Amino acid sequence: MNTQERDHASQMSVYQRAPITFVRGEGCDLIADTGERYLDLLAGIAVTAVGHCHPEVVQAIATQAATLDHVSNLYRTLPQIELAERLRATTGWGKVFFANSGAEANECALKLARRISVARHGLPRTKVVAALGGFHGRTFATLAATGQAGKHDPFLPLPDWFSHIPYNDVDAASASIDELTGAVILEIIQGEGGVIPATPDFLRAVRQRCDEVGAVLILDEVQTGIGRTGTFWAYEQTPIEPDLITAAKALGGGLPIGACMARDELAEAFQPGDHATTFGGGPVVCAAALATLSIIEREGLTANAESRGAQLAEGLSMVPGVLEVRGRGALLGAVLSADRASAVVDAMRTHGVIAGTAGPDVVRFAPPLVIDALGVQRGIEAFAAAASEVLV
Ligand SMILES: *Cc1c(COP(=O)(O)O)cnc(C)c1O
Repeated sequence: MNTQERDHASQMSVYQRAPITFVRGEGCDLIADTGERYLDLLAGIAVTAVGHCHPEVVQAIATQAATLDHVSNLYRTLPQIELAERLRATTGWGKVFFANSGAEANECALKLARRISVARHGLPRTKVVAALGGFHGRTFATLAATGQAGKHDPFLPLPDWFSHIPYNDVDAASASIDELTGAVILEIIQGEGGVIPATPDFLRAVRQRCDEVGAVLILDEVQTGIGRTGTFWAYEQTPIEPDLITAAKALGGGLPIGACMARDELAEAFQPGDHATTFGGGPVVCAAALATLSIIEREGLTANAESRGAQLAEGLSMVPGVLEVRGRGALLGAVLSADRASAVVDAMRTHGVIAGTAGPDVVRFAPPLVIDALGVQRGIEAFAAAASEVLV
């Protein structure tokens, strides 16, 4: 059997995989078993912010793995405490729960919001307002929060607590967030949903209604967080602040970690035993995350995301067949004049560059934050070549 046949024979077919097997990663590059080298402008879906196999991350993982691998959350470990302190320093507030993924971080936020509603109002408020087109994960609750009917259909019935409003619809937000609402969960930029930024007016209206009715605002920064949009958190570029914030993707420098952070007084709604995980915040992933955050800070990668993102946006917007380039910093979507995003991404691969899609008509770019001007230029050229082949 060849690699493709072995993959099919041994794994559930939930992924439509591209016909490449990768064997090595180096900085912004991925290397296939054929020896072919690709420029990775998707970064494992906004994950490998400091590039693949960054020597400092590799060293941190190796050292920690050889020192203390796993002990469970029945005991304290120092990398976990240090990482929580580092995250707290990014906002100036908050207590952290470490999970293993974005979906788990959001699951924690939704469970905490339920407990907060009981503490605040004396009874559980089950209603959660979310946005159409939003994406929050694949567990039953986070899938229900996700505003994409196509992903719901195979799994109905789902938990029925979620009301989906049109993203950026101020009137819908004001009307839908009511005295039954315990929480609102939103992305600052809808990543999977098409790279669509929230408008300041929408965010202001949501924040105001949450305060009026006593609901908590959860910002899902799983994709936008950790420097990707030009600030550590994307919300820093908006007029609002969250009550709860979730992160994952880029946090672990390639290793799986999720985090849910809540304002100190809200975090008190969880009592011992209310929530737990065996692996979450283990020493090795925390060491990898600490190394990643150090590199991002020391090398000014948040600012690099801003400047290289601007270069990328400008180049993409000049390509014929591109209607618009959306997003901020190093999270960008090129909106095509036709529903040919996956064909463009396939064609880009033949030019040695990896990008992603965000819906049928949007090519998504989430490059490593260490990308340089030359890499961005190569990406623009590959995209332009692919677009001219596909969109004619
Ligand atoms: C990827 C993503 C998730 C889910 O993260 P997983 O680690 O795949 O569970 C949740 N929310 C947003 C905004 C995401 O982009």
